Amino acid sequence: MSHPAKYFSELIISGLQSVVGNRKVALHEPSFTGNEWLYVKECLDSTYVSSVGKFVTRFESDLTSYTGAKHAVAVVNGTAGLHLALLLAGVGHNDEVLMPALTFVATANAVSYCSAMPHLVDCNPENLGFFVEKTREYLSDTTEQRAGQCINKTTGRVIRAMVPMHTFGHPVDIEGCLRLAKDFNVQFVEDAAESLGSLYDGKHTGTFGQSGVLSFNGNKIVTTGGGGAILTNDEKLAKKAKHLSTTAKLPHAWHYVHDECGYNYRMPNINAALGCAQLENLPEFIAKKRNLFNKYYNCFKDKAGVSLVHEPEKSRSNYWLQTLELDIADEKEQNKILYAVNEAGFMVRPPWKLMNTLQPYRNVPAMNLDEAKRLATTLVNLPSSQGLLG
Ligand SMILES: *Cc1c(COP(=O)(O)O)cnc(C)c1O
Repeated sequence: MSHPAKYFSELIISGLQSVVGNRKVALHEPSFTGNEWLYVKECLDSTYVSSVGKFVTRFESDLTSYTGAKHAVAVVNGTAGLHLALLLAGVGHNDEVLMPALTFVATANAVSYCSAMPHLVDCNPENLGFFVEKTREYLSDTTEQRAGQCINKTTGRVIRAMVPMHTFGHPVDIEGCLRLAKDFNVQFVEDAAESLGSLYDGKHTGTFGQSGVLSFNGNKIVTTGGGGAILTNDEKLAKKAKHLSTTAKLPHAWHYVHDECGYNYRMPNINAALGCAQLENLPEFIAKKRNLFNKYYNCFKDKAGVSLVHEPEKSRSNYWLQTLELDIADEKEQNKILYAVNEAGFMVRPPWKLMNTLQPYRNVPAMNLDEAKRLATTLVNLPSSQGLLG
């Protein structure tokens, strides 16, 4: 039997009060407790705030040491990173790209920037991400292999790639994704925008696919103001990504020669300076997020009708955004709960609207999305800042 909205809002409010105290709390705030001021000041003092300076190279090298990826290319934001990663996966005009219906719009937009079309996949409730088994069955029924390409039998288009996303920092079934990509001849690019610090099978997310993309937006686990990075173990791909992200300019002391239509996607030095300082604190941020998860977990574990989302099998999650799953029936109930808890001063929010409900993606191909639909109304993100408990 399910409970009325009032039961859930009171339960969540008293739970949050016991964990974080009785005060106004944001959903996610960055912390600048390390060398941020020092490194940014160094940029200003040196005047190297833009496209020249040592911090971009250092940030890229720090990212490779931390993630274990062979190469990292820093870019202006995660969306730009996804755009380049998809172009480099060969995604182009009239292609389709498999991606979760439950994601931030950037995943779908990046596909559109390549003149391709998102093809929406349902959500696995075990990890809130790409539903591998269901997609395998669906592709077996709806696609055929022609000359080594995966063809959508309904639309006639090539399904070029798949872009699983590690929702709220929880890794998807990466092993299943790798097998699926191989069996159906599609490229595998990871949207790891939310999962810096999350591991699958002991290895960093974003390092399994042909490439993986991180985001350092203001609300992510570390921030560069705005920023992103492409991770890859493929040296050629890394060089190409760097080239495309720097207007495809050939190196020369004074001549401006560009050998293709590139992009101005390079991360500025001042943003990279912030990133270097943030990465130094990442292990501490992750420990604090895990501690917050444990506190929330103990608080909600014996309560009827709610469960806190925890890291999936074989994974170690960065616990970027803490998430409660509520046993509620519909969006109206969800809205009542969101209204009451926000009104009490705790910023909580639902997941994103499913991509197929957004104007630009209303008519894109999609499989049955029952689980994603259910999760979009039953999940609620709780205040998750690393600095929340001091
Ligand atoms: C944050 C995010 C991105 C990238 O966002 P930017 O703001 O462009 O850095 C992409 N996908 C998902 C799922 C995200 O959460």
